[in-house]
Amino acid sequence: MILLKTANELALMKEACVISAGALKAAGEAVQPGVSTAEIDMIAHDYIVRRGAKPAFLNYNGFPATACISINDEVIHGIPSSRRMIKEGDLVSIDLGAMLNGYFGDNAATFAAGRISPEAKRLSDTTRESLYEGIRMAVAGGRVGDIGSAVQRYCESRGYGVVRDFTGHGVGKAIHEDPPVPNFGTPGRGARLLPGMTIAIEPMINEGSGAVKVLPDGWTVKTRDGKLSAHFEHTVAVTTDGPVILTQI
Ligand code: MG
Repeated sequence: MILLKTANELALMKEACVISAGALKAAGEAVQPGVSTAEIDMIAHDYIVRRGAKPAFLNYNGFPATACISINDEVIHGIPSSRRMIKEGDLVSIDLGAMLNGYFGDNAATFAAGRISPEAKRLSDTTRESLYEGIRMAVAGGRVGDIGSAVQRYCESRGYGVVRDFTGHGVGKAIHEDPPVPNFGTPGRGARLLPGMTIAIEPMINEGSGAVKVLPDGWTVKTRDGKLSAHFEHTVAVTTDGPVILTQI
């Protein structure tokens, strides 16, 4: 069931989203060679709890950390570890959320550790741009397929693979609500976009094929071909005034 939010609910949710965005920014600023992914996770955790919010992913289905930190050929759901050091040239995707006032915010971004290859930069730039291509289509009266189609077209026309096994989603009173928001689709198809809908749009884009596999740890998702992956996400409200990015700070 798709839950539409009132203006008052959106205002409450915005507060959770601003904390999510601030935590992501702080975590991203800590990305550099020699830093462990556990240290970055702690920065995100402390940022969220000091503001009276709760890390949305911590203990969610047993996930053991605040942030998912996925490096290079890891797509999503990487588990932070004190033994996992970031290296020069790594492409580091961080995904995290916060809950405040009973509402959730969810966002992700890919960060460069030191100097990254031109190929890595192009993939990261394209993935970020595709997020905004999708957000532009999050307008009342449209369809969920308009969003996915825009992301897919943008990325595939540049030679990249769209991950299909994982999707964006509704977000609000729960971290995952209806509807699913795939990064592929057909214009005019899928759930109708209505004012008050709040969705996480999150392109997961691979340098090669979109095929992925889950590691034996039960969480980490990697590209099947071992090539790079990037991930950007915003929580977006569909309103009568167009899309509003709630996790924009
Ligand atoms: Mg999400």
